[in-house]
Amino acid sequence: MIRLIEAEKTYDNGTHALNGVSFTVNDGEFVFLVGPSGSGKSTLLRILAGVYRPDSGRVLINGQAPFENEQVKRSTVFISDYPYLAPTATVRRLARLYRSVYPGWSEDYFARMEKLFPISFDARLGKMSKGMQRQAAILLGLSTQPRCILFDEIFDGLDPVVRELVKKLLVDFVAENGASVMIASHN
Ligand code: ADP
Ligand code: MG
Repeated sequence: MIRLIEAEKTYDNGTHALNGVSFTVNDGEFVFLVGPSGSGKSTLLRILAGVYRPDSGRVLINGQAPFENEQVKRSTVFISDYPYLAPTATVRRLARLYRSVYPGWSEDYFARMEKLFPISFDARLGKMSKGMQRQAAILLGLSTQPRCILFDEIFDGLDPVVRELVKKLLVDFVAENGASVMIASHN
């Protein structure tokens, strides 16, 4: 469950990005956050992911504040609008790392993803297009079997076939695992 209570965020340069935002996303709920560029969507997701702490107000992910909270982060997947993946790594090597970090990691789920996504698990990520890197981030993230999914502009750079695949995987995942999902998009 995601709860945001009266969250405010002003950047150092004075930009007032969030002005007292409150909402709840229950387990098994899917929420799309839609709005024009600059409306604060990415700021909001970074606060939910515990990248930033709100200036005031509270954020609770399954009852706990996410900022500098390893326990919350182990059960959350956040894909930012510009996901960074080590350029010399491959999907398979990152999977080994994720397996050791995320207690919910599912080898079965990861193996299924290799059959579904049209990317090589042995190619260097730095040699992949943005859309392919995003696919890698999505399938690795879902393989951690998160309780909270935060995706920023997730469909950017994905072709229509992969976009439909990701939508279906998310719907199935939420139906089976009862995760709470928030997806931000300008479109
Ligand atoms: P969105 O994701 O909806 O496009 P953002 O959350 O990225 O919106 O931005 C909201 C506002 O905060 C914008 O006015 C943007 O310029 C500003 N902003 C975002 N990140 C920073 C930052 N690191 N420093 C200063 N201002 C920022
Ligand atoms: Mg954004």
